[in-house]
Amino acid sequence: AALSRSCYSHRMAESSSAKLKSGAATESKLPLSPAPNPRLCEVALPVPLPQTFTYSIPPTMTVEPGMRVVAPFGARRLVGVVVGRGQMPAGLNPKAIRPLQRVIDEVPALTAEFIALARWVADYYLTPLGEVLPALLPRAASLRNKTKLLITEAGREALEPGGSGKKLIATSSERQLLERIAKRGGLSSETLRGSAALVEKLRRRGWLAIERSVEDSTARSASAVAPPILTTTFHKGNVPRWELSPPQQTALTRINDQMETGEFGVLLLHGVTGSGKTEVYMRAIELALARGRSALMLVPEINLTPAMAGQFAARFGERIAVLHSGLDDRDRERVWQRVRAGQVGMSDVLIGTRSAVFAPLQRPGLIIVDEEHDGSYKQEEAPRYSGRDVAIVRAKESGATVVLGSATPSVETRYHAETGKYQLLELEGRVQERPLPQTEIIDMRQEFAETGKQTFLSRRMVEAISMRLQQHEQVMILMNRRGFSSFVICRSCGKTVECANCSIALTHHKRAARLLCHYCGYARPVPQVCPECQSEHIYFMGEGSEKVEAALIKHFPEARIGRLDRDTARARGSAESILASFHGHELDILVGTQMIAKGHDIHGVTLVGVISADMGLARPDFRSAEKTFQLLTQVSGRAGRGEREGIVVIQTYYPDHYAIKAAAAHDYAQFYKQEQRFRQLMHYPPFAALANVIVKSDSQEAVLKLTGRLGRFFESLQEDKQKGRGWRVLGPAAAPIPKLKKAYRYHFLIKAEQRSLLRKVLMAAQNFALREKFPANALIIDVDPQSLF
Ligand code: ADP
Ligand code: ZN
Ligand code: ZN
Repeated sequence: AALSRSCYSHRMAESSSAKLKSGAATESKLPLSPAPNPRLCEVALPVPLPQTFTYSIPPTMTVEPGMRVVAPFGARRLVGVVVGRGQMPAGLNPKAIRPLQRVIDEVPALTAEFIALARWVADYYLTPLGEVLPALLPRAASLRNKTKLLITEAGREALEPGGSGKKLIATSSERQLLERIAKRGGLSSETLRGSAALVEKLRRRGWLAIERSVEDSTARSASAVAPPILTTTFHKGNVPRWELSPPQQTALTRINDQMETGEFGVLLLHGVTGSGKTEVYMRAIELALARGRSALMLVPEINLTPAMAGQFAARFGERIAVLHSGLDDRDRERVWQRVRAGQVGMSDVLIGTRSAVFAPLQRPGLIIVDEEHDGSYKQEEAPRYSGRDVAIVRAKESGATVVLGSATPSVETRYHAETGKYQLLELEGRVQERPLPQTEIIDMRQEFAETGKQTFLSRRMVEAISMRLQQHEQVMILMNRRGFSSFVICRSCGKTVECANCSIALTHHKRAARLLCHYCGYARPVPQVCPECQSEHIYFMGEGSEKVEAALIKHFPEARIGRLDRDTARARGSAESILASFHGHELDILVGTQMIAKGHDIHGVTLVGVISADMGLARPDFRSAEKTFQLLTQVSGRAGRGEREGIVVIQTYYPDHYAIKAAAAHDYAQFYKQEQRFRQLMHYPPFAALANVIVKSDSQEAVLKLTGRLGRFFESLQEDKQKGRGWRVLGPAAAPIPKLKKAYRYHFLIKAEQRSLLRKVLMAAQNFALREKFPANALIIDVDPQSLF
């Protein structure tokens, strides 16, 4: 029902001064407050403030929750979403409430179910609701503010020569600007950005007026020529329908039993690499569809697993819809609308990357999260949510079954399976009794001692590769860093060449002839002399995938060698085509970063080589061992998936590290046991609720001050007998990357015994920052952080 068609005729003069007078700030409230005022509504706006805003509804307007609206906010107009009925905020002058300007949607873009989901995300991750909602809409609903500057009558007079005695006369630069604007009949403020100060002066003098309008980019793109309907961009392979192995059948039966209840439940499908998880997913989806429910499958990166997407397309045809980051706005909108239409037999199986968890799929009965441990499920910018965890919440709301699948479950997930929160399904062997590959560990310290040479290709690695090549088998080589040399150092002054914006050594990219920052994209030409001291003694140190590729070309001139990393995969479709060539055995060796470790099922691969297993271990991050174990296990799992057995060769300087040893032995249980003990002792997840609180500023002095104040606030909380119990704070410390994208960064880690306690502390910190007028965006709260960079 319409929220209101009120006869509220109170019109407000537009106040362009104080920012927060725009709407009226209220604490976020449930949509159905005890005494809702039909003339008011609650609007979430994309501003970094933890509240929603109250607006009045003009009499001519019909507004329902879930509709996008244009609302005045200070001098700006913002696109927000109506999230509920409004209430007169206590103690607020009714006159401070401003009317909505426009309604964008005729039908609500979001249903109550999704508003509730967004509220959960905002609440759990302590992110403004208005910053969460865009993720739930088919595209960023960005209506652009357009401001046009017009010359006023007084402005024209000022241009007149002479004029009367008292009148101000324009100076020549003022005159020039006024004339330019007059001639064009007005100019956009964007065009005049270069003369902003002058414009402001003339505006205050009354010679220029601002005309504001909102340009609807939505309307523009919708009217553009429609592309052919997209079902899937992936070619459909010929896919056999396997007779399930007994363990696969058992797992499927358990999933089916859960779906049969029609109630929410989570199952962990823990199956070693090559155990046939994909077939189980497809059968489970068939069973969900047979019950008249839809299915959602989240995957880490679709373009890196085109073969898998192809299998689904072949099995489900029209029923498959695909959502991933490579789609443009229009295609995304199309998929969105088809999914939302909720037709049985059409787009009722949705495959997508993390944001697909917010797609308006109707009646989901099954939600699969493939490779549930994958770091890409966590969004590392606001809203900082985990697609996996939101999937579970969504399933809970719709009575769906969740299947979390992985060969290397995160410690948290495995822990929940051990303690009975999730059901545990295990596939302990590969299909058709294929063995897991034998693994050799090469101690690179010994290699150096024996050869006296600093090399990154051990003798054993070279030998193993040439043997496979002789037998016309395929090889994958993991080098988990892109570029040629990892840094440039000066032997005279000892300095490395760093990024201008970050405290990060630049990586040398030889083919591009550039030094690049992998964090912000900053690039500079390759220096001939040290930029600090002008010495010629600069050296390129360390290696990346580009250098490994070059070395392999030199060692094996006959071999056909390809490389897959962010550099070679940049162009659209190129990752798919590199993988397709490797699939078709048009390449003998594929070198690459973690991109090559994803679920590829390429039967010709009999050797996987790992150049440096240690890279991730040095990180000051409690997940570094886990990430290393997962990467090594996943990449090893690419070997020996066909008829012939495979082997894995891992080079390392830490052959005794438990993550490396356990990965080499395919021993998840061993790794889990060690890792769990460490987490328990150190109070890390799953034994504590964790948040990373980052303070940042472009000014080093400001960041120190803000960090100090927040630190003292945490201290005062800790000292309180009541409030200080059950949680602790670590820090402040400089963040692992102390300067990132021009901002200086410090951080605190908050560990709490209970989630509710963590929330209390974080909310207190957020309120403190608001009260103390920290600059917007100075405080970043990352709940359940994946990495602490
Ligand atoms: P995982 O995702 O567990 O690593 P996949 O799902 O990629 O494993 O399966 C590995 C291979 O086994 C694939 O080539 C798949 O087609 C095949 N496969 C799956 N189930 C069976 C089965 N029951 N019998 C024989 N082969 C199977
Ligand atoms: Zn120098
Ligand atoms: Zn940088």
